[in-house]
Amino acid sequence: MEKQRKSGHLVLVTVPFQGHITPMLQLATILHSKGFSITIIHTELNSPNPSNHPEITFVSIPDKLTKSQLSDTDVAGLTLILNKNCAAPLQKCIKKLLHSYGHIAAVLYDTLMYCAQTIADNLRLPGITLRTCSATTLLFFPVFSQLDEKDFISGIESPELRVLQLQRFRALLSQNPTEATMETRVAFTNVVRSSSAIIVNSMEFLEQEALSKVKKYFPAPIFTIGPLHKLAPTVCSSLLNEDEKCILWLDKQSPESVIYVSFGSIASMDRQELVETAWGLANSKQPFLWVVRPGLARGSEWDESLPNGFRESVGERGCIVKWAPQKQVLAHVSVGGFWSHGGWNSTIESICEGVPMICKPFFGDQHVNSSYICRVWNIGLELHELERGNIEKTIKRLMVDMEGNEIRKRAMDLKEKAALSLMEGGSSSSSLYDLTNQISSA
Ligand code: UDP
Repeated sequence: MEKQRKSGHLVLVTVPFQGHITPMLQLATILHSKGFSITIIHTELNSPNPSNHPEITFVSIPDKLTKSQLSDTDVAGLTLILNKNCAAPLQKCIKKLLHSYGHIAAVLYDTLMYCAQTIADNLRLPGITLRTCSATTLLFFPVFSQLDEKDFISGIESPELRVLQLQRFRALLSQNPTEATMETRVAFTNVVRSSSAIIVNSMEFLEQEALSKVKKYFPAPIFTIGPLHKLAPTVCSSLLNEDEKCILWLDKQSPESVIYVSFGSIASMDRQELVETAWGLANSKQPFLWVVRPGLARGSEWDESLPNGFRESVGERGCIVKWAPQKQVLAHVSVGGFWSHGGWNSTIESICEGVPMICKPFFGDQHVNSSYICRVWNIGLELHELERGNIEKTIKRLMVDMEGNEIRKRAMDLKEKAALSLMEGGSSSSSLYDLTNQISSA
């Protein structure tokens, strides 16, 4: 256990999903660089590799979850189980740390592990929540708990939010909610409302109007500190082994010629959709780097569902890996487009490299992110149906047609704005400064 550092000790609590562990580790590294000593409490399942982060103390708590439960797309149901299973061990663990350190400056927790706020309240410690999705997703919480139609409608008058069609998402998410879903949403709202601060991995200019709405709903100050991966560029957080071979393959391709295809760590498709995706990529005649994660095709171990003749047909033009060093891939000169599921981390990572996107959202916030990408920021094309002709056409629109050039220019503009927000005096760097001041002065 590291000695208490000058700014104090922070306890960070993460959840067992790749897209959540990564930003939490990045935040931990950033706060350590600001003089805090850090303990990360994580579940036994999907635990981060401590040897990659010698500056951080790691403590695991039992979660009673199985690997197969984690691939469930019923995030609300899973969150409820996670909190029920982890509340008691988490409380015991934080109490023990408090006893050892004598003082804890704050408990920072992933919003999905909302039981941490109650524990922090009971121990009279400041609780700070990290929302690893967009700030916009926070808008759903108060709406769901109050089910106040009028309030919501008045919340979507602004052009940015109207284009997003938040009302449509709300309707989608409200359809036949289970008891677990309702319980989770109420818990989310309550903890975010009672937290001392909210951190989002975003940038002010990306979600300006949504952020001003969020500020109305939640009393706690909101710190928009992103992109976290640029503030902590050396953090290695992959739960799967990154296949570096694809970088050598990228080195051999022409500038901006490659379409990188990845649907993140949870989304899955049926076997026929995988077959259509494969032929769509083959028929586009564009070089591609495709992450076929084990389990991407439901019921398949890995690539056995790829169609016969596909590998022969694409030859050296296609590179398939189980998991890629994504941030390195997106920064590579050969990559000219990113076909993504629209996960929030992938979205932010793509923006930071000025890579235009194709979006195929699967579930949850991916729909909202995809709308931002394709309708608000206009840096991508939507692709809903996984059908080979549709895929081929969309790839050509982005990678070959004039339309793609315009989209690429807008993506480059956002890249510049993202870099500015990190510079001294930029919104993210000022927000980080304010957050550390708030924690230190509590
Ligand atoms: N990622 C990666 N290699 C891959 C695919 C994904 O390193 O082959 C990383 C990606 O950089 C991102 C995270 O996994 O940081 C996925 O998070 P995201 O929010 O985009 O999607 P999720 O997995 O949560 O659906």
